[in-house]
Amino acid sequence: MLEKPTQIGDTPDIHYHATLLIVDDHLDNVRSLALLLSDSGYLVRKATSGEMALETIQIAKPDLVLLDVRMPEMDGYEVCERIKANPNTCDVPIIFLSASNDTDDKIQAFEVGGADYVTKPFQAEEVLARVRHQVTILQQKQQLQQQQQQLALQNYQLRQEIKQREQLEAKLQQANLQLQHMANTDSLTQLANRRCFDAVLQQEWQRLKREQQPLSLILCDIDYFKQYNDLYGHPAGDVCLERVAQAIAGCVNRSADKVARYGGEEFAVILPNTDLAGAVSIVEAIRATLESLQIPHTGSVIAAHITLSLGIACLIPTSNSSCQELLAATDAALYRAKQQGRNTWRVAP
Ligand code: GH3
Ligand code: MG
Ligand code: MG
Repeated sequence: MLEKPTQIGDTPDIHYHATLLIVDDHLDNVRSLALLLSDSGYLVRKATSGEMALETIQIAKPDLVLLDVRMPEMDGYEVCERIKANPNTCDVPIIFLSASNDTDDKIQAFEVGGADYVTKPFQAEEVLARVRHQVTILQQKQQLQQQQQQLALQNYQLRQEIKQREQLEAKLQQANLQLQHMANTDSLTQLANRRCFDAVLQQEWQRLKREQQPLSLILCDIDYFKQYNDLYGHPAGDVCLERVAQAIAGCVNRSADKVARYGGEEFAVILPNTDLAGAVSIVEAIRATLESLQIPHTGSVIAAHITLSLGIACLIPTSNSSCQELLAATDAALYRAKQQGRNTWRVAP
């Protein structure tokens, strides 16, 4: 094969060691051609019949074949057709050598796959020029192939890079989601935390102000929870908080409803598009659930089990009011429930 491809556009190097196969049944022709071409720096191999040429090509593929047309047994056209029919050799360019200057013969040479045609007796300069021309084409083909391979490799590397980036991006997105979840979740109860509560309340306030729909808020506070901790220990207090959190979360149904851990042993329930009657029914459900849980609390003054005091407020948001006012009103209602005996609920006026 060609050894060292030069840059595209370079003039072909005369010392470029292209291997040529000369095929001619006349030994004199073969000899004179071989001399001419080897003097010009080409590596030359010879064959004196079509059969021999095909065998030689099979053993080692030349870069170019100079092929006599008129030969006994197998003529040059047939040799050419066979070379072109073989996938291993079909890309070897063939220059025909012929005594015939007949147009039909020349046309046939190209039809069977020839690359060029030289009439005999040949002019040395012409043969050299035509051979050089074919070798240049070969070099350029080879360079093109190398560039294509390089491009394919770069393309592959780029695809790999894109894939890695995509994987990284997916991981980052996953990490972001996790972070967002953590930033908005109370780690003990897995409810929304205070930060999330504030954001949701503000958001729902704005939405319902536009819709002119009611927004209800419930605040729940465990009765005598300090005594619970004192009596059963802080870890037991944590378990109790988890159970109460689950109980409250189990009492809301709509996807827009939001249960949050508002403070230490205080929970909040945001009920969008819910009027006072709806809020009261949720409160009753929470109380009934707590009652059914019967979490023992012998330190409580009001009952033998864990109970809640609750404050409720409901209003249609306006431009003259704020969600802080709703929160303050709910807190005041909760305070009254505490003041007026605990294990009960009060509604903000
Ligand atoms: P009241 O009926 O007036 O609400 O009385 P209380 O004892 O429940 O209220 P107080 O605010 O005096 O006490 C709240 C207690 O909640 C005190 C605090 O140690 C406890 N607490 C707050 N956060 C946690 C927590 O994460 N785990 C546990 N185990 N206890 C907590
Ligand atoms: Mg409290
Ligand atoms: Mg309390």
